[in-house]
Amino acid sequence: MASYDYDLFVIGAGSGGVRASRVSAAHGAKVAIAEEFRVGGTCVIRGCVPKKLLVYGAHFAEDLQDARRFGWDVPDCRFDWSTLRDNVLAEVDRLNSLYENTLNNNAVEIIRERATIAGPHEVKLASGRTVTAGKILIATGAWPTVPDCLGAELGITSNEVFHLESLPKRIVIAGAGYIANEFAGIFHQFGSHVTLINRSDKILRGYDEQIRDRLLQISMTKGIEFRFNAAFEKVEKAADGSLLIHVSNGDPIPADVLLYAIGRTPHTVGLGLETAGVELGERGAVKVDADGRSSCDSIFAVGDVTDRVQLTPVAIREGQAFADTQFGNKPGRVDYGCIPSAVFSHPPLAGVGLTESQARDKFGNVKIYTSDFRPMKNVLANRNERALYKMVVHPENDKVLGLHMIGPDAPEILQAAAIAVKAGLTKQAFDDTVALHPSMSEELVLMK
Ligand SMILES: Cc1cc2nc3c(=O)[nH]c(=O)nc-3n(C[C@H](O)[C@H](O)[C@H](O)COP(=O)(O)OP(=O)(O)OC[C@H]3O[C@@H](n4cnc5c(N)ncnc54)[C@H](O)[C@@H]3O)c2cc1C
Repeated sequence: MASYDYDLFVIGAGSGGVRASRVSAAHGAKVAIAEEFRVGGTCVIRGCVPKKLLVYGAHFAEDLQDARRFGWDVPDCRFDWSTLRDNVLAEVDRLNSLYENTLNNNAVEIIRERATIAGPHEVKLASGRTVTAGKILIATGAWPTVPDCLGAELGITSNEVFHLESLPKRIVIAGAGYIANEFAGIFHQFGSHVTLINRSDKILRGYDEQIRDRLLQISMTKGIEFRFNAAFEKVEKAADGSLLIHVSNGDPIPADVLLYAIGRTPHTVGLGLETAGVELGERGAVKVDADGRSSCDSIFAVGDVTDRVQLTPVAIREGQAFADTQFGNKPGRVDYGCIPSAVFSHPPLAGVGLTESQARDKFGNVKIYTSDFRPMKNVLANRNERALYKMVVHPENDKVLGLHMIGPDAPEILQAAAIAVKAGLTKQAFDDTVALHPSMSEELVLMK
């Protein structure tokens, strides 16, 4: 049998890579992991975690306003971006150390440099050293897409947004997916003027239409501007340092910051995959089978680089399944059915299972139950924002096919309800559950 420096070499210490490497090592494999930036990857360093902390920070704008209606004497408040930014970045540093400790405690060797593939069992490090491994796992994630237009380099991406020197007075956000809508909510709450521009006339493709329409309507009422069917033409910098963004419809938009949130491309450019015959699919994603194996027998891939479902818990599950199957003698595959997801907008929305239109395409005349209500807290706060819950039910067997909601705490509520949807429970099972009163989630068992 050939002998290698390592049983497993992982490229990329993000959600998928860290889980795969530490579990493989716990199963007894000799493992090294290369990271060119910071251990923890996108989610911990410049994604889910710092984003969610900004969402919490942003929500105080409304909470402080509402508090007055609940009898609190709230003096005029001022928001200080640099305090929140520095506290968030300190928390990121803390988590980064925790991730490093986890790898060290599991005897995973951390190699802090860029790695590329040099053959089916060979990895080349930026320092010039070449190492060998029985198996190689590509967990390099995805990278923010930047538009191809004149002056595009004047914009920033989610990689830079957490480090802004100061809060922009005017920010233009390109894109209409979850990252765009989350940052639109965050900056709006902090007091920036936000304009969201998008090539099409829809936001949040893939989410239930009624739910995303509700977010659009609430966002517009709050004062976020939307410019639809607007393709980039060019970006210019004025003498005072501000930007002028030219789009295909209407006047150019002035801004202090332009943030691209137009998608994330699998991170495979320059990775040397051709040296091992690893095939790429659409958008440069590594093509893998149900076990994460690429077209080269000894090379596997997990997470965003495979462009299946670009979410942290999915990358983690794929990393776990890989480690258990290849090194733990416990073969397992990821079940991609009923993956819940959320948009941490203001208010947040969340969904699991089929949307109404997906269910109609598949099953025809599905049953739809909705609850459109003003949460009790919003009523007293004089906040005219309504929540909307929607249940999509199979036309014959009464199974809940999908659950979608927008309103305060929707992601927290949906995670629990997703268990019932994943378990294939019926609408009757929801109805049989006694309401927990007074709560917003009681609407789930009272839907007509
Ligand atoms: C702003 C933002 C918000 C997000 N919010 C959420 C959310 O709320 N919920 C959610 O589930 N998901 C969210 N995501 C998505 C989530 O971060 C990703 O799905 C997840 O991080 C994917 O994990 P991964 O292991 O595939 O890749 P990553 O976590 O991206 O890790 C890849 C790592 O590989 C390293 N690397 C790349 N190439 C090389 C190389 N050649 N050599 C060495 N190292 C290399 C990179 O530096 C990186 O650290 C968000 C993403 C962004 C950008």
